[in-house]
Amino acid sequence: MHRFIMNGSDLAHIFEKAISGEELSIREGTELLENGDLFELGHVASLLRMKSSGRVVTFVVNLHVNYSNVCISKCPLCAFYREKNDEDSFTLSIEEIIQKISGWYGRGIKEVHIVGGLNPETGIEYFETLFSEIKQKFPEVSIKALTAVEIDFLSKKERISVKEILERLKDSGLEFMPGGGAEIFSERVRKTICPSKISGERWLKVIETAHRTGIRTNATILYGHVEKPEERIEHLIRLRELQKKTGGFQALVPLSFHPMNTGLFREGLVREKVSSEEDMKMMAVSRIVLGKWIPNIRAHWVMLGERASQVSLHFGVNDLEGTVGEEKITHAAGAKTGQYMEKERLIHLIREAGMIPAERTTDYRILKVYR
Ligand code: SF4
Repeated sequence: MHRFIMNGSDLAHIFEKAISGEELSIREGTELLENGDLFELGHVASLLRMKSSGRVVTFVVNLHVNYSNVCISKCPLCAFYREKNDEDSFTLSIEEIIQKISGWYGRGIKEVHIVGGLNPETGIEYFETLFSEIKQKFPEVSIKALTAVEIDFLSKKERISVKEILERLKDSGLEFMPGGGAEIFSERVRKTICPSKISGERWLKVIETAHRTGIRTNATILYGHVEKPEERIEHLIRLRELQKKTGGFQALVPLSFHPMNTGLFREGLVREKVSSEEDMKMMAVSRIVLGKWIPNIRAHWVMLGERASQVSLHFGVNDLEGTVGEEKITHAAGAKTGQYMEKERLIHLIREAGMIPAERTTDYRILKVYR
C-alpha cells in the first residue's frame, strides 16, 4: 500500500486496488467520485500517470474543421446545430475545406479533426472525395474524422452496412475517429440530453466495428448535466470492457458540459458548468478507473480553460488537446477560451505546470520533446 496516501483514508482499499492494477467495480468508482478527497484522488491519479508516461505531456498540432452545422438530430445538449434554412446554417464545399486546410498548413499541422451535424445532404461520396483530396494534397496530415453517430447516420442514409461505410472511408484516407457522441451511455440520461441520437449500445457497436476495421478512435464522456455519479462510472467501465476486447481506443477525453444556448439550459435542467474542482475530480477518477486500459487521458483546454488544464496535469492528465484552430461546437455553448492556441503557448503552459512538453502524431508517436 502507498503509505503517504492511505493514512486514514476510508477509501484505502479502493486506491490500493487501483494502484496494483486491478479493475474497479461500478460501486468502487462511484465511491471515489462521491466521497473521494480531491487531493487524495489527485495524488493517486498522479502516481498512476507517472507510472505510464512520467512527466511527459503530449499535444498535437491540429486543425478542427466543422463541415456543416445542419443536423436533423436536434439534441437538447447541443448549441451548435441549425436547421437547413436558418440564416446561420452552413455546409462547406470540399474546395472550401481544402482552402481552410491550406491556410493552416504553414503552421505545421499534423492532424485534421473533421466533424459536423447529421446533414442529409452530405453523403458517403462527399466524404470519400474530401478525404482523398486531403490525402492527395497533404499526405503527411492524418485524418481523424466522423463520430460513431455520423458513421451510423451515413450507414442508414446510404443503406450500406457500418462495416462497408468504414472500409470505403478508410480506403479514401480516413485513419482515425474522434470519440464524440458517446455522451453518457445510460438510456435514462440519453432520453433527456439526446433522445434522437443512437443508443450507447449502438455507439459501442459502431466503434467496435471501427477498431476491427483498423481505425483507432478516441473515447469521450460528457459530464456535468443530468447524469448521476454511478452513470459516469458505468460509462467508463463499458469503455474499459470494449478496450479489453479490441485495444482500439487511443485516449479518453472527459468533456465538461457547457450549457449556454442549449435546450437543457432553456428547459432549466442545467444552469451552469460544473466547478473546476468537479472537473479535476473527474479527470482523476478517469485515470484511476481507466488509466491501465486507456493510457492517455486528455484535457480539452477549450472546455476547461488554460489554468484548469494546467492543474489537470496533476490530476492524472498526460495529454492536452492540440492547437485546434477553429473551435465552434463548445463556443456555441458559451466557452470563453480562444478558438486557437499557438504551439508555443501549449509548450509554455505544460512547462509552467512542471511537466515536459512533447509534440506527437495522432497515433501518439513522439515527434519532438521540448526539454
Ligand atoms: S450533438 Fe451532434 S447529433 Fe446532436 S444536434 Fe448537435 S450536431 Fe447534431
